[in-house]
Amino acid sequence: MLTSVAGVVLIDRHYQQLAIDQARMNAETVTSLVDNARRAYSKVLNKLKAQTNLITGHDHAIKGRIVPNPATFSIELAKSVSSPKQRVWMYSYHPFPWRKDTAVPKNDHETKALAQLTADSKDPYIQIINSGSEKKFFYAQAIVMNDVSCVECHNNHPASMKASWRIGDTRAVLATESSLDYEQKFSLWFIFGFISLLSLFCVALYLKKNQEWLLSEKAGRTDPLTKIPNRISLSEQMNQQFDHHKAAQKVLGVMMIDIDNFKAINDGYGHDIGDKCIIAVADVLTTELRANDDYVARWGGEEFLVLLHETTVETAKSVAARMLVAIHNKKISNHNLSVTFSIGIAVADPSNVKSCEELIQQADQALLKAKSEGKDRYIMNED
Ligand code: GH3
Ligand code: MG
Ligand code: MG
Repeated sequence: MLTSVAGVVLIDRHYQQLAIDQARMNAETVTSLVDNARRAYSKVLNKLKAQTNLITGHDHAIKGRIVPNPATFSIELAKSVSSPKQRVWMYSYHPFPWRKDTAVPKNDHETKALAQLTADSKDPYIQIINSGSEKKFFYAQAIVMNDVSCVECHNNHPASMKASWRIGDTRAVLATESSLDYEQKFSLWFIFGFISLLSLFCVALYLKKNQEWLLSEKAGRTDPLTKIPNRISLSEQMNQQFDHHKAAQKVLGVMMIDIDNFKAINDGYGHDIGDKCIIAVADVLTTELRANDDYVARWGGEEFLVLLHETTVETAKSVAARMLVAIHNKKISNHNLSVTFSIGIAVADPSNVKSCEELIQQADQALLKAKSEGKDRYIMNED
């Protein structure tokens, strides 16, 4: 899902970037065309004016025998290369009086562009503008006073709004604005959507297969009555823990736990209540152990086996004592029934015993001792 969303965003960005690149290329082409034409026209005009009595002005359209001056020429050229998709125009701080309403900045970005290009004419001013739901590409470059004739004409013109022009000054801004609407290629969307769906389907299939496998794995290692690990899981865990403690030279604790007088409970209350007692004991043992380190499994019938990770004799004893108190306090079923159990404990550094089985046997011996000494107690193998 995340990849689909990321893909949609990336494709959109890609199209947007293409539209921006295209708009920039168009803007650079058209502004350089207008500016270069202005320079060339100005050069030719200077030559002709030196050889003939050619008159230039802004009002050539209404007066006869006048040719447009370079500024008028470039303003008109910009207008003629404008199209509905790309507007091209010029504006400045000091327009001649007959252009004072049209050739001035009209909004924030036009004002900013003029300020930036007046301070430094080298780099163009570029901005993406949000105009309603539409995005527009605004590009502006400086029109620079590049020769003496330009400067002289502007400084000496009776209608000029400024008479202190110098070579290199930014006279005006040549701006273009175009729409950034872009058409998205549906074939690409279709291929992308298809690939996304296919990958989602593969991921779902993989998860389903994995989940079935995980569930069957877990089920094979879990006791169905108490939902704690069964004997298959226990033997794996026992071997792992034995090896770990041997390598780390730490003490491993094993507890064998058996419910006291369980036959009598079954006989007196029935097997269903007996089952509830087994579940209650499993809950107590799980609660009293450290969740991540210690381990409890159903050994069989009403017997449980606990592994105490990196323990000591004292810790093992206090855990056993805690378990005995907890089961005393537990009330089972509506009969307000309570049970007890006996615990046999064996703690050893695995380097000092032959195998896990030997450690379990020691715990079993201790359990028998606890039973024979009156039940509802724990006995340590070393005691
Ligand atoms: P002790 O105090 O010496 O342990 O006496 P006990 O009566 O508990 O004797 P024992 O441990 O031999 O009794 C085990 C009984 O547990 C026998 C069996 O019917 C019963 N049992 C074993 N598995 C289950 C089970 O899953 N559910 C129920 N309800 N009873 C079970
Ligand atoms: Mg038993
Ligand atoms: Mg028993």
